[in-house]
Amino acid sequence: MAVSGGQCSACGMENPSTSQSCVRCGQPLPWAQQASAPPIPPPGAPLVVSGPYFEATTPAPPSRIKGPGCLPVLGVMLACMVLVIVITYVLPNLIFWSVLLSAFWVYFDASKIGVRKGQIKGIYDMSPAAWATATGLLWLLTFPAYLVARPIYLRVNGKT
Ligand SMILES: [Zn+2]
Repeated sequence: MAVSGGQCSACGMENPSTSQSCVRCGQPLPWAQQASAPPIPPPGAPLVVSGPYFEATTPAPPSRIKGPGCLPVLGVMLACMVLVIVITYVLPNLIFWSVLLSAFWVYFDASKIGVRKGQIKGIYDMSPAAWATATGLLWLLTFPAYLVARPIYLRVNGKT
């Protein structure tokens, strides 16, 4: 619909339809107001929400992968305990070297995988040095825990 201009409601000046406001007094012209006003939906029309208004503006922080539960650790721990008892019975001197060797292995293995603190949730969240130290001090607790946490670390670091 072409609007062919009209008189200004304030001063009576004849204005062309292309003007947004009166060329003489600057009063906003009625057709300009009409054109710039947002369309009013008819009553009862469904409210249509479109566009990017409801998209998340910031990406969700990457959720850390949960560490393993206690049950698999207890299972491996039991197996390790049996191994310790057998070794103690057969070759008592081997225990010290086994602990030392597994602590070193844990350190180098964790470093190779790319284990870093902050990769998984919970008590398993340790650096290679922390894993190795804990293995040396609390072998029976930490070594099984590392074995159980290892596949998760592998997955986190894309090594599977
Ligand atoms: Zn005017």
